[in-house]
Formats: sequence, C-alpha cells, structure tokens
Amino acid sequence: MRTTSVATLSVVAVSLLMVAAAEAGAIRPPSNTGPDYVPTGKGWGVPDTGKTPGQKGGHGGGPKKTSNGINYHGGPVMLGTTNMYYIWYGDWSANSAVSILENLALSLGGSPYFNINTTYYDGSNTNVSNSLTVPTSTTDNYSHGNALGDTDVQAIVSDKIASGSLPADPNGVYVVLTSADVNETSGFCTQYCGWHTHASILNIDTKFAFVGNAERCPSACSAQTANSPNGNVGADAMASVLAHEVDEMVTDPDLNAWYDRRGYENADKCAWKFGTTYKAANGSDANMNLGGMDYLIQQNWENANGGNCVLSYP
Ligand SMILES: [Zn+2]
Repeated sequence: MRTTSVATLSVVAVSLLMVAAAEAGAIRPPSNTGPDYVPTGKGWGVPDTGKTPGQKGGHGGGPKKTSNGINYHGGPVMLGTTNMYYIWYGDWSANSAVSILENLALSLGGSPYFNINTTYYDGSNTNVSNSLTVPTSTTDNYSHGNALGDTDVQAIVSDKIASGSLPADPNGVYVVLTSADVNETSGFCTQYCGWHTHASILNIDTKFAFVGNAERCPSACSAQTANSPNGNVGADAMASVLAHEVDEMVTDPDLNAWYDRRGYENADKCAWKFGTTYKAANGSDANMNLGGMDYLIQQNWENANGGNCVLSYP
C-alpha cells in the first residue's frame, strides 16, 4: 500500500485523539490494587460493588482467568444464529446510509472479521458462532421526538416488539439507528458514539443497542471526517460503531460474561484501532471489503493467541 499523506494522517490522528478523549471521559484509571470493574455497555467500566445481580462470577468465585487479557464472568453468550433487527429512527430518506449499513448487516455473518467472536464461549464451553442474519427491519418516525434518553431507546425497541413490527426474539439484537438531527442526551458525541445493553421486554431478555449518525459529530465519532469508503462520512463511521456493538452483544449480551478487569468488553479493548488499511477507490482509508463494499471497521479482541486486536480470525 502507498503510504498515507502526512496531511491525511494528521487529520485522522487529531480525530482519533478527540474520540479517545470523548470516550475516556468517564473512565477511571485502572488500578492493580483497587476494585475490579464491570462493563456499562458504553465503553467504560465502573467499580464492581458486587450489588448487581449476575455481575459476579456465576459460580460463587471470581472470574475465570484466561491468558488472553479478557476473562469470563459466568454469564451467557449468544449461541447459534444471531438475528439482527434495525430500527431506522428519524429521517433516513435519500440517505445512502440505508444501503451501506444493510449491506454490512447482510455481510458480517460468516466474515473473517465476525469470526473473531467465535473465540468466546460460555460456561459449557460452547462457542459463539459466526452466524448473523437480518430477518427484517423497521422504521420509526420520531415517536419519541429528537432528544432521546436511554429509557426512550428501550421504549422504541419495546414499542416495535409490542406492536408486532418486530418479533420478540431471544436470539435477537435490536439496533436503534438515529438520524443526524436526533440526539441521545445521556452522552452521544461527548461520552460515546454507541452503546448496548439488555432489558426484560415482554418477559424476554432483550439485547439492544443505540448507534447514532456520526454525521452529527464527525470529529468525535468518525475516524475520517473528509472522505470515507462509501462517500458517507456519518454512515461509514456508524459501520464501525455498529460492528463494535454487535461484537459485544454476542460475547457479553447481559454485561456479565466477557470483559477485562477494567470493565472493557472485547471491542472496547480495540476501539479506534484499525490495523492495516488500504485505499478505497475514492482515496479514503478502508480495511475490509464486505459484500462488495469497502469499510473501515475497528479491530476486535481475539480471545486466543495471548489476546490481540485483529481484523480477522484465525
Ligand atoms: Zn463497547
């Protein structure tokens, strides 16, 4: 590959620094003598008070230590085929984000990238599978306005399930994708670019995520702010954040399975690390082609070979 121009590099470096600052805002420095941390799903950990049911080691002990820099805490992982459901919230008309992210959804399953997640397993030593499908998706015309709190995001998901627009699926991951005119007031663009969590919806443990349009704050949430592989800076940045959240949802769906002692889940350990890149046709940086489209997707942590940020496994 040709080397990247200094000008491009500096822009990327500056944006990466700003992102790191934004994401690190609530992260307390890890300590070897202080408490262990548990994940919040937003990219940082909080001290483990032991008061959150299900967030301690599942069998009366501490975490199961691996030699790969990330540990198993007893909770479930997602097994078999995971079904992903998009909820396009707000105004996505005439936006190429729809095709960019739908192609990603259709192409992640079975990819060398998603295969990294198969290095994670549950208490029965059953591994996550490299299988992701997209049964259906839906839209939402600002049912909760354009300033959402975390509870609104959950309500958007539960509304769609209750109304029958989306199935109630214990093997599902529901992703609320918000247009650039929508804010998530708990910290989108200042504390995080996306997050995931779970809740009981219609008596099913439902996994869901928020991914906002990075066009709202490219300096904080886009690795490339001037150009991007598919000519849509916001959507191309969302692709990386989305991959991050899905990696975490299949390996730590209830925030009590796989994370390190800082409370970092697999993708958190590789946030904003992209590995070896190449030039897409329009001159922007990319690092993988999925379904015929180039993407710049962050690396993920392999729970093998001592643990590393990688773009593919094996
Ligand atoms: Zn994360």
